[in-house]
Amino acid sequence: MRQTLSYIKNLLATYGIDPKNKLGQNFLIDLNTLDFVISAGELSKEDAVLEIGPGTGTLTHNLVERAGFVLSAEIDSRFEPILGSLFLPDAPFELHMGDILASKNKLDPVVLDKWRAGAALYGCTRFKLVANLPYSVSTPVLINLILSEIPIERLVGMVQFETAEKISADVGSEAYSGLAVLAQSLSDCRIIRRVPPTVFYPRPKVDSAILEMIPNSQKRSVLCNALSTSNEPNIGPYRFRVFLRDLFLHRRKALRAALVKMPLGAQIPKEMLDQLINRLELPMQIRADQMTHMQLIELSKGWWEIKNQFDPQELSSQEDLIIDS
Ligand code: SAM
Repeated sequence: MRQTLSYIKNLLATYGIDPKNKLGQNFLIDLNTLDFVISAGELSKEDAVLEIGPGTGTLTHNLVERAGFVLSAEIDSRFEPILGSLFLPDAPFELHMGDILASKNKLDPVVLDKWRAGAALYGCTRFKLVANLPYSVSTPVLINLILSEIPIERLVGMVQFETAEKISADVGSEAYSGLAVLAQSLSDCRIIRRVPPTVFYPRPKVDSAILEMIPNSQKRSVLCNALSTSNEPNIGPYRFRVFLRDLFLHRRKALRAALVKMPLGAQIPKEMLDQLINRLELPMQIRADQMTHMQLIELSKGWWEIKNQFDPQELSSQEDLIIDS
């Protein structure tokens, strides 16, 4: 069923649903944009797709037609009767009613388990996210998915334009932050289309963007090799996330001053910090927001080596951390 504006308005009226801004309930009504999102997913029957926020099911229909399995997670129980009656019981579709986030910054592990189980059941070998994301949770959702150990091939998400800019920002640009560094250290990110408010009902106040993130296993290996330990081979990305969170709080400071401001930084002799900066052949005046993700990975490696001499306490890979929003 192609869900046009009048179809969606009727459906919402029939079920007595008034869209909630707080839950990012802006429904996609432009069918060209919908087709574009679906084709950006490059779907086939090999794909197990996660959709977050199916709402009235406008994308869901198209996903189930093309993919091998679709898991849709929706927080708002008012949509359950609509979504529950979309497909025949034997369709390769599962509806999970609940919040995609278990806490402010952690994905619900039950959803990830259902995704893996559905993929196995339907013989899907690839994992993809295709979703018109609820804006308030799009950053933690995308970041936690690329950090997760599920081998995701491709993420296509409709997000606020500003979020897409922050994630795909180039070094030195105004939007460049720890978030961009982390995202680009694990994936190749690009904005594939800017989208005006008119493609949604109700219209949001700002532009949106279709963001593509392609997890890159070589990049992940570089990060893991630099920052993991033999006991915890997957801890590298999490350590880097902590490092970026702490460093980018001082993004405008010259590097040594920023490192001094990091936790434990004041206890580390300044000569050790200078030696590290010199060894990496970085100019003394460089700032965090002028460094490439590779330079920051090297810096992070050196920082953890020094820091461990002062505080060998290990970070738990389960730690619930917020890097940026
Ligand atoms: N997929 C539909 C479309 O494209 O028209 C609706 C997308 S709408 C932008 C976002 C959807 O995400 C809403 O249905 C909303 O209820 C749901 N949602 C909001 N927060 C959520 C959360 N934390 N977990 C799961 N779903 C959520």
